[in-house]
Formats: sequence, C-alpha cells, structure tokens
Amino acid sequence: MIKKSKESFSLAIHGGAGGTIKKARESETVVKQTLHDILERGRTILARGGSSIDAVTSCVGMLEDCPLFNAGYGAVSNSAGQYELDAAIMDGKTLKAGAVAAVLNVKNPVDLARLVMEKTPHILLSGKGAIAFAKMQNVPMVTQKYFKDAQEKASSLIDKNKKHGTVGAVARDLKGNLAAATSTGGWGAKMPGRIGDSPLIGAGNFANNDSGAISCTGIGEHFIRTVLAGYIGFLIERENMDASEAAMAALIRLTEKFKGEGGFIVVDKNGYIAAAQTTKIMRCGWIEHGGEIHVTLQETLRIPKT
Ligand code: ASP
Repeated sequence: MIKKSKESFSLAIHGGAGGTIKKARESETVVKQTLHDILERGRTILARGGSSIDAVTSCVGMLEDCPLFNAGYGAVSNSAGQYELDAAIMDGKTLKAGAVAAVLNVKNPVDLARLVMEKTPHILLSGKGAIAFAKMQNVPMVTQKYFKDAQEKASSLIDKNKKHGTVGAVARDLKGNLAAATSTGGWGAKMPGRIGDSPLIGAGNFANNDSGAISCTGIGEHFIRTVLAGYIGFLIERENMDASEAAMAALIRLTEKFKGEGGFIVVDKNGYIAAAQTTKIMRCGWIEHGGEIHVTLQETLRIPKT
C-alpha cells in the first residue's frame, strides 16, 4: 500500500461492470489505453492543484465522448430506440449535488448535471425541463443520430444488445476535497422513462469529505434498493472503515441480502482507493496518493455472484 500523505491526490475511474470475458478480451487493449489516457488527464488536473470536482467532470466527460462506453456518445437506446441519458455529480466539500435523468440529445450529461448543481436550487432535473435548462445554458446538443452512429462505430468491440459500460470517476484533490460523478445510458431496451441509480444521490453516486466519494455501476434497481453509495459513505464515516473494508462490507450487502449485480469505485477521505464488483468484468483504473496509474478489467476485490 502506498504511504498516505496529506498533500497527495487520488483518482479512480470506471467504465462499467459486466459483460463476458471473451468480449472484454477483444477490446482489452483499446479500453485499457483509453482508461489510461483519461487517468493521465485527471492526473494533470489534480497534480497542478485543480479541484476534485473539475477532475471528475473532465474524466467523465472524456468517457462520455468515447463510443466504447455506455454513456454520452456510446449510450445504449431504450425500447423505443431513443437515447435517454442519466448523470450525476456531487461535491464532497459542500455536499452540493446536481443530476439529470432521461435527457435526450445532450452531448455531455455530466456537464448539464454540474450546471444543475451550480446554477439551480435543485438537485435533479428530468426530461423536458432538463432540456429547456440545457438550452438556456447553451450546452452542446446533438441529434439522436449522433448516438446511433457511435453504436455502429463500436459494434466490433462491444455487444450491441447487452452493453455494459456506465462510467464514473471519484477523486480527492490536494486540499482533501472529494467529488464523484457518474453517467450512463442505463440498460439497453429499458422502458422509456426508466431512471436508474446513476442520477440518484446516495444510490449510484455520492461524495462527502467526511467519508468518501463513490460511483456505482450495475443493475441500477439493485443499487437504488440498497442505497449503496450512501451506505459505503456511512461505513467509512460512522464505522471508521477505510475504502477496502467498506467496499467488502458493501459487496456483502449487495450480494447476500439483495442478490445484486454490479460494482463500484471508492476513494475514502484519506485518499485510499478500492474497486469492487460482483461481476467477472469491471473496467477501471486508479492513481492512489499520486502514485502510478493502474488499469484493470478484472483484478479488483470481487465476490462472485452465487
Ligand atoms: N447502473 C446503470 C443503470 O442501471 C447501468 C450500468 O451501470 O450498467 O442505469
């Protein structure tokens, strides 16, 4: 374990849990390289004193722009063939949060979530109201074809019909401030209007300087039921667990009690990182206490689904 220093930063990102080992191997090189490049970008921001909120916004924005993941450009469509996107962001210093749900034609939902946090008295905007706000804020809008094109671009590397690849980032900056962001297209062929855990604070996304920053991926309904991101925060804050201990306890809650499926990344208030999942595959990478970049598709803390 890397020695902790008060003046160091930590960053973890994920590109979703789930999928087959065979499919993951086919895209392994490109996915790993993409995660590595995005961590480099996050490292540059944090190393020069940038905030955790800027780092997670930037990393999730880059993941959204990549056709390999199920968020932004690469998002999957619902059963009506529309691309309805969810995203959230939370600032651990202020406990302010912003989120958008079931939005159409927004290029980068994480940026819109951040604007909800910064420019409105609300936390979650959905559907038409969110779009009206996006237009008011001049955020880049795209057509539905934009998302469709991405599916074709990435079809040799990902399973079109059952794509896993929600994205997220958690960070602790040099000042010890934490932040988390998550973005997704949800589940392929989901019912129109279905909203998952990703834009729900405490379910799929959470940050608090007194505990940790958490971003989840997997079957959203399981994470909503278990309030998993908030539960991990609670374990760190009230049970004095570190990131790994809390991750293990959360995996047990997710699997044993709720037969849940998915994974998550955590950075605790001291900058320790854990990544854990119930699935065989989770695309993730991290930099702990300013150390080296690590990227993996498989070797994280894992309790197999029974
Ligand atoms: N958690 C996301 C949702 O249910 C999907 C995923 O992470 O793959 O919307």
